[in-house]
Amino acid sequence: MPTVTNKQALLTQIFNLAKKKYELEAAESRPILEELLFSILREGTTQKLATDAYENLIKNFIDLNEIRVSSPTEVGEALSELPNAGVRAQRIVGILQEWFELTYSFNMDELPKKGQKEGARKLSRLHDVNEFSVAWVVQRGFGGHAMPLDTPTLRVLHRVGAIDDPTDSLDNISGTLEHYIPKAKGPLFTDLISEVAADVCHEKPKCPQCPLRNDCLYALNKSAPATGTPAEKKPRKSR
Ligand code: SF4
Repeated sequence: MPTVTNKQALLTQIFNLAKKKYELEAAESRPILEELLFSILREGTTQKLATDAYENLIKNFIDLNEIRVSSPTEVGEALSELPNAGVRAQRIVGILQEWFELTYSFNMDELPKKGQKEGARKLSRLHDVNEFSVAWVVQRGFGGHAMPLDTPTLRVLHRVGAIDDPTDSLDNISGTLEHYIPKAKGPLFTDLISEVAADVCHEKPKCPQCPLRNDCLYALNKSAPATGTPAEKKPRKSR
C-alpha cells in the first residue's frame, strides 16, 4: 500500500522527497517575452538543460531582433543540445516575428496588466504558442497559479497516482493540481517533477533508483504480488 492515500498528501509527499533528492536552486526570472521563449526550450526537458540552451542562444545572437531575422536552421544550431532543436527554433523565430509584426517591439511586459486571464488569452492566440507555454508564462512571468504540463510531467504524475486520466484535458488536470499545490510551491514542483522524469521515470522507468518509489502507485503495484497468483493458490501439502 502507498504510505499516503489522498492526492493532496501524495503531492506533498512527492514534492518533499524530490526536493530532498534534487536540491534545485531557485529559477532565474526573465522579462515576459523571454520567459515565453524559454518555455519552448523547457518543454520536455529540465530547468538546467533549458537554461544552458537559452544561455547559448543569447550568446550566439546580438539580440532578439537578430534571432527573429535568422533562419530556424541557424537558431537551431544554438540549441543543438536539446531534442527537436529544429522545431523549437522554428517556434522561437515564429513568435518573435509575429509579436514584432503586431507591436513593433520585443516587450510583453504589459500583457498581464489587464488581468492574467486576458494576458493568457492574448498569448494563446499566437500561432506558435501552446498550452504548456501559456501555463509557463502565467506561472513564471505573471506570477500566477498555473501548472505547465508536458509529456514527461504527465507520465510521472500518472504513474505515482496523482493523475487518474492522463488523456483528460490539460485544463482539467492543471485545475486539479492547482487545487492541491499551493501557488508558492508551483514553480519548484514543476521543476522537481521534470527532474524525476529525466533522471529515472523514463518510458522504461528505473524505479529502484527513484526517490518516489515508496509512494508511487506504479512501483508498488509492480512489486506487489497480484491477487490469486499461483504462489497464493499453492495446494496444501498432503499429510
Ligand atoms: S517509482 Fe518508478 S514509476 Fe514511480 S515515479 Fe519513480 S521511476 Fe516513475
